[in-house]
This record gives sequence, C-alpha cells and structure tokens, in this order.
Amino acid sequence: MAADFDAIVVGAGCAGSVAAYVLAAKGKSVLLVERGEDAGSKNMTGGRLYAHALREVLPHFEDNAPLERKITTERISLITQDECTTVSFASPRLGEAACDSYAVLRGPFDRWLASQAEDAGAECVFGIAVEDVLWDEDRIAGIVAGGDALTAEVVIIADGVNSLLTEKAKLASRPRPHQIAVGVKETIALSERVISDRFCAADGEGSAWLFAGAATQGHVGGGFLYTNRDSISIGLVATLSDLCTSAVPIYQMMEDFKAHPSIAPLLRGGSLAEYSGHLIPEGGLAMVPELCRDGCLVAGDAAMLCINLGYQVRGMDYAIASGRIAAEVAAEALDAGDTSANRLSAYKLKLSESFVLKDMQAHRDFPAFMEGTPRIFKGYPEMAADIMRGMFAVDGSPVRPMKRIAMEPVKRMGVLTLLKDVRRGMRAL
Ligand SMILES: Cc1cc2nc3c(=O)[nH]c(=O)nc-3n(C[C@H](O)[C@H](O)[C@H](O)COP(=O)(O)OP(=O)(O)OC[C@H]3O[C@@H](n4cnc5c(N)ncnc54)[C@H](O)[C@@H]3O)c2cc1C
Repeated sequence: MAADFDAIVVGAGCAGSVAAYVLAAKGKSVLLVERGEDAGSKNMTGGRLYAHALREVLPHFEDNAPLERKITTERISLITQDECTTVSFASPRLGEAACDSYAVLRGPFDRWLASQAEDAGAECVFGIAVEDVLWDEDRIAGIVAGGDALTAEVVIIADGVNSLLTEKAKLASRPRPHQIAVGVKETIALSERVISDRFCAADGEGSAWLFAGAATQGHVGGGFLYTNRDSISIGLVATLSDLCTSAVPIYQMMEDFKAHPSIAPLLRGGSLAEYSGHLIPEGGLAMVPELCRDGCLVAGDAAMLCINLGYQVRGMDYAIASGRIAAEVAAEALDAGDTSANRLSAYKLKLSESFVLKDMQAHRDFPAFMEGTPRIFKGYPEMAADIMRGMFAVDGSPVRPMKRIAMEPVKRMGVLTLLKDVRRGMRAL
C-alpha cells in the first residue's frame, strides 16, 4: 500500500523547515509536524544566524526574512564581578555577503521559515507532538501522533536537542550532563535609536558580544548579548554537570549578570519582552548519534550538530545545512525507490564532506578542553583585569615598569600553567 506521504519531517525549527522546504520544492509530498502552536513558539537561540547556509537554500532570503540587525561588530570579554576586559572588532567586511550574519528572534524567524516550506507545497500541522516512530519490522515507516499513525517512505527527525524520537528510533541514547548546557535568555525592549546610540551602530547594523568569567560565576559557560532592531537579547549558557555544583541558581546568575557595571547601562530603561530557557548540545562530535537507518534520517540539534567555541556559537547554520542535505538525499532515495539505510547513508557521506562534520571533527577536543580548564572561567578574567588595572589606574604613586605590571598577575597564575593552557587551547581549536 502506498505511504501517506513521501516524507514526514518532525519539528519546524531551522533543520525541519528547511528539510520540508527542499523536499516540497522538489515536488515530494511532505508533512511537517510541529508540537508548538506555531513554528518558533518553543524555540530559542542566542542568537546570531550565520547566513551562508540559508543563502544556499533561499538565495534571496534578505528580501523578506525577519532579520534583526546585520552583525558588524564583535566583542569578547573576560569579566570579573565588576570589571570587564574586552576585545572588540568592527569591520564592514563582517557584513559582506560571503560571511554576513544577522541577529534573529526565533519566533518571527521560524514562522517565516516554515511559511517558505508551506508556500513550496509542504503540509504543515502545528500543535501536535509526535509521540513515537512507526515501525514496520526493522524499518521506520512513519510516525505516531495523537494516537494516530501516519506512514511515509522516509521520516526526517528534526525535533531538537531533547530528541525523544532519536531514542525511540534506536539511534541515540540519553546525553550525559557534561554534554548538555542550559541556556536562559531575556529579550529587553528598547527603542531602535537608543540601541544604535548605545552600541555605536549604523542603521540596520549591530553587535554580537560574548562573555566568560563572572557571567556564570566561574562555572563552565558564558554570557551573550545580541542587538536586535528594537530589543537586546541577553543570556547565559552553563554546562549542566557543572551547574549542579553551583550554590547560585542560573536565574540568580542572570540577575547578577544584568546588574554588572558593564551591562546595566546598556539595558537601562528597557522592559522585559520575553524570557526563555532551552538546552544546547555542547558535547561535540562525541555525542553525534547514528544519523540514519532504514526509512529515517536525523538533522540539526537532534543530531547534536552544534558548537560553542566561546567566540562563536553555531547551531542554526548546521541545522539549516543538515536539513538541506538530509532532504536532498531523501529526495534522491525517493526517486530511486529505495529508502533503505544503505541508500540513505549518502547523508553521512555528504555531511562529512560538508563544513558541518568537518567543523565538528576539527573541534572535537574543544568540549574537553573547556571542561578541563576552569581557569578560563575563574582565574584568567581576574588576571586580565589585574593587568589592565595596573596599566590604566593612575593614583600618583611612581609608575611600575610594564614588565612588572604584566608579569606579576601572570606569575600568580603560573607562567607554565598559562603556557600549557594556551597550547592545549590552540590544539583544541
Ligand atoms: C541559549 C542558546 C544560544 C544559542 N545561540 C546560538 C547562536 O547565536 N547562533 C547559532 O547558530 N546557534 C545558537 N544556538 C543553537 C541553535 O539555536 C540550535 O542549534 C538550533 O536552533 C537547532 O535547530 P533545530 O531545528 O535542529 O532545533 P530546534 O530549533 O530546537 O527545533 C526543533 C523543533 O522540533 C519541535 N519538536 C520537538 N519535539 C517534537 C515532537 N515530539 N513533535 C513535534 N515537534 C517537536 C520543537 O518544538 C522545535 O520547534 C543557541 C542555542 C541556545 C539554547
């Protein structure tokens, strides 16, 4: 008997909506199922979207995608309780088409992306959670949702980081607490002009800003701030295993972070528009599950394709690229009348030839480096502040030679420790 659909895609996030769009654009019958009342209603990101992957799917996305601001200024800070050492880089080159990136809000952005799939011919249903995959012996033959079964030649699982379906499809086991981080975020509404003035931004442009140190009160993780058109996204990310040992809960860390003397003036006068929390896969390549089996492919966060390097957080471009590649492989398999694991394994090959698995491979040691180097979060921020204070605080006492200003804090930390950490960090990157 013919299946109900050529393909069923679970989850209307970046991965799922792109997969549904690509399949529908190739003339396949596609059902996109999302548990949220609308695409994006359950989703969250920091968030900055690196545009290259989306451009490959929708070359003219800038014409109508709800983008907030083009990011042309990058900042990275090490912060102590009340001090902040920042590296800032502003460049029009960051806004050029090959490497442009945009602040986005997932509510409007995901709704728009799902509408692209719908316009291309995908059937989209919202407010329905897929409970299980449907088995036909060893093959996945569809989904079970709301007590009903629907069949498809191929199912693309794109249900995000907390993927219950990859477990049910026997592709993954539960991740470990050190592989998962929790993120909290507030969106603070402010006028467009105030944001442009406070961040010295040209019209339509804005900043991305990442923080390590006191943001997570010395725990593994960091803070982030992105300028939207008329709001600021501010939040924290902290590794679950480490957070369990913290005396301070993450919501209190967030309050303290917002009150930091380098942050509070940027938010002054703003009002809370949105509060959200979400998990993030941060275990790298080691936690990528089996990516396919008979009748099934996995994309995006469900496949744990996400990287947090401290200076770059990336998941959306990996989700978009893996959704696209999964859909292309699925479409070819449908054309060939063969959606067996053997045929669908072309997905793994194509992903490993793409930037997605190449990046994951290149940074495979980074999660262990972060976890094994607590000084990044407590130690180095204080060291940097000591050096900066030594350089800039003038109280009338005789000046100390620069060598002493710089070396005394380094010696307190340990020159060899610092050298070893730099070498390990470079190797992991
Ligand atoms: C705090 C934070 C900051 C981040 N910052 C950035 C950043 O700046 N840049 C970046 O590129 N990435 C960032 N990421 C990562 C990025 O957001 C994710 O990698 C990306 O959203 C993954 O997309 P996805 O489509 O795979 O999953 P999701 O966006 O999570 O979408 C999954 C969808 O599946 C749906 N779903 C789940 N279960 C079911 C079910 N059973 N039935 C039906 N539907 C279901 C969900 O409701 C959701 O809509 C950040 C993440 C967090 C949490």
